[in-house]
Amino acid sequence: KEELNIIQGALELRTKTVEDVLTPLTDCFMLAADAVLDFNTMTEIMQSGYTRIPVFEIERSNIVDILFVKDLAFVDPDDCTPLKTITQFYKHPLHCVFSDTKLDAMLEEFKKGKSHLAIVQRVNNEGEGDPFYEVMGLVTLEDVIEEIIKSEILDE
Ligand code: ADP
Repeated sequence: KEELNIIQGALELRTKTVEDVLTPLTDCFMLAADAVLDFNTMTEIMQSGYTRIPVFEIERSNIVDILFVKDLAFVDPDDCTPLKTITQFYKHPLHCVFSDTKLDAMLEEFKKGKSHLAIVQRVNNEGEGDPFYEVMGLVTLEDVIEEIIKSEILDE
């Protein structure tokens, strides 16, 4: 039964898209670019349990950086270091994909190893104005793997 599930999950990678598995922007744990890495912020980051945290400027849809929790290894909360100091030092590249990317293509991208987290965007051409890129959320390798094995991976 479990094997059948996995086979079916694997077959569906060609038809499902990242839009089907992403974590919506409203559910993303993110930090504002002007945040200060004081005790409160660092506690919040630790309690979120996430390893990669998008950083936005002004609006949550405007993701400008990504913070890895391991970047904080040498940060002392007493120093109240501006988040910008850290993100500008590490400058992790942002990896963006379109929401209609098929999961098999996404898996190949992730396997290349640049990053196991991607920002998902789509072209919004509803309404009167010019079409624009709209951030929908984020997708990680774990979201794709869960789709293959068809069951939830519980975090440590
Ligand atoms: P982590 O290593 O941080 O636990 P995973 O890659 O294992 O992240 O992903 C676990 C789940 O959490 C996935 O569904 C992914 O979309 C989601 N996720 C990852 N980072 C964040 C974040 N910063 N905010 C909200 N959800 C996230």
